[in-house]
Amino acid sequence: MSDENQKEKLRQHFARRVTTQARVVLDTWQKIHEHDREETASFRSEFVAAADKLMRYAQRFEMEAHAKAGEALTNLLKNWPQGDPLPEFLDEKISGTLELLAGCTQRRTDLEQHEPPQQFRRTPVYIALSDSTNAERLIRQLEFFGFRASAFNDADELLSACALHKPETILMDVGFGGGNNSGIAAVERLQERHDTPIPVIFRSEGDGTIETRLRASRCGGEEFFYPAVDPGQLIEKIESYTHGNTIEPYKVLVLDDSRAQAKFMETVLKKAGMIAHIITDPMQIINALDEFSPEIIILDMYMPGCTGMEIARVIRQQDRFHSVPIIYLSGEEDVNKQLHAMSLGGDDFLTKPIEPKHLIATLHNRGRRARSMLALMIRDSLTGLFNHTHTLHLLDQEISRAGQKAQPLSFAMIDLDNFKKVNDTYGHPIGDRVLRSLAMFLKQRLRKTDHIGRYGGEEFAIIFPDTSVEDARNVLNEIRGRFAELQQPAGDRDFNVTFSAGVAGWQGESSQNLCERADRALYRAKDEGRNCVEAAEN
Ligand code: GH3
Ligand code: MG
Ligand code: MG
Repeated sequence: MSDENQKEKLRQHFARRVTTQARVVLDTWQKIHEHDREETASFRSEFVAAADKLMRYAQRFEMEAHAKAGEALTNLLKNWPQGDPLPEFLDEKISGTLELLAGCTQRRTDLEQHEPPQQFRRTPVYIALSDSTNAERLIRQLEFFGFRASAFNDADELLSACALHKPETILMDVGFGGGNNSGIAAVERLQERHDTPIPVIFRSEGDGTIETRLRASRCGGEEFFYPAVDPGQLIEKIESYTHGNTIEPYKVLVLDDSRAQAKFMETVLKKAGMIAHIITDPMQIINALDEFSPEIIILDMYMPGCTGMEIARVIRQQDRFHSVPIIYLSGEEDVNKQLHAMSLGGDDFLTKPIEPKHLIATLHNRGRRARSMLALMIRDSLTGLFNHTHTLHLLDQEISRAGQKAQPLSFAMIDLDNFKKVNDTYGHPIGDRVLRSLAMFLKQRLRKTDHIGRYGGEEFAIIFPDTSVEDARNVLNEIRGRFAELQQPAGDRDFNVTFSAGVAGWQGESSQNLCERADRALYRAKDEGRNCVEAAEN
């Protein structure tokens, strides 16, 4: 191993230690929060030690952001007297510092998305298929999508691997191990050892009876494929179990003229993992809507100067917030008045004093519904990407943001090469599968902050905030190269598909102009023989 190589390996090793220690700190804080304040005294020394260790590690291994957070935390903790419960005034300050800490861990992973995909998923997918050639083929495919997958030859091997490293999901043949339903039996043994069941995707060659399906479902089988399916479909399922499971926190706007009530709501919402934005002056509502873009709005009924119902009407007058759930909060117990309020654009009515559990449950229900309604409006049903209209809306938004912050912005158009031939040769459903595979591929490889849209048939668009045209082009070119290598399965043979792309850097122009320049660059890429990325001329 070369010197440089070894150094890099060491650096990565130490970086992991720092991030692991950061997680210990965050976990300890969570533990403290799960206890009543009077019981927190016993956690002080553990927390102080964890913070101190984080600071020292981060300083030694030169991870500046972590070191800063560790230092700030250590200083704050000097105000926690030994033997006392956690002083109330420290609560918010510590939370703020830890948000920074969580943030710098997050941003790292965001950056890592540009590295080869094998590195950015730590939790593995385990494959237990009877046919090892099939398993190997699937692993290679999964690697292209950024999954780390391992195959197993017998149940004991699988069980010990799970004990060592819990997988994200398991793909299991019902008859794995050779016997009738022996795969299911192995999963039953496996789940007994784990508190929370591991999601399992079952595949069956010859047995689709209700008895077998029930038994599979009872031991954590999320999916049952009978007859067995091709790798493309399996990868889509695996992706949905691993990617779709993380729920983004809901963004909740609270308007209440009572500062105490607003503060209380903020605490309850934050504790439930939601992002809260609090305002106490009704006249700030327009600003808050624009800047925060809430998914749910909670309005106090009676405020000086106006009522919650009046505010709701103003909110509903804006197209963008037409379907955002509005929940009224008030001491009003008169059902007739409540009904009247609801008829003026509200969705729910909660009476003070409000039980936190009740509030959170209501928000989850409303939020989930609102998101699925919104998805119907702004997403393309085949790929789950943003549709044409919403992509353009996002582009306008990002253009105005880039202008305000004086940051660069890039926009790319992608078009699959000779896609008509793919449809003609393999059929439309396989063509659809290719479109979905490109969508997944882009989602896996781009940063969370990039917006990906299906622009039309076999055309895609990407918005890269805070990215120069050179950087966007490099990222796209890397993706282009890897996508071209991806084996697209069609029955028992594989084929390859390529794409061409044009990318343009924003120059203070309108979104329409930017799109046109990216489009012209795309057509140059087609002209130059396809399977390449071209940057737009100025
Ligand atoms: P080029 O390299 O010049 O882009 O060639 P092309 O064949 O990709 O371009 P063309 O515009 O001639 O054909 C696009 C094809 O994309 C035709 C259409 O059937 C196919 N297509 C568009 N939308 C869908 C879709 O939703 N599903 C499938 N399977 N095919 C689609
Ligand atoms: Mg086209
Ligand atoms: Mg095309």
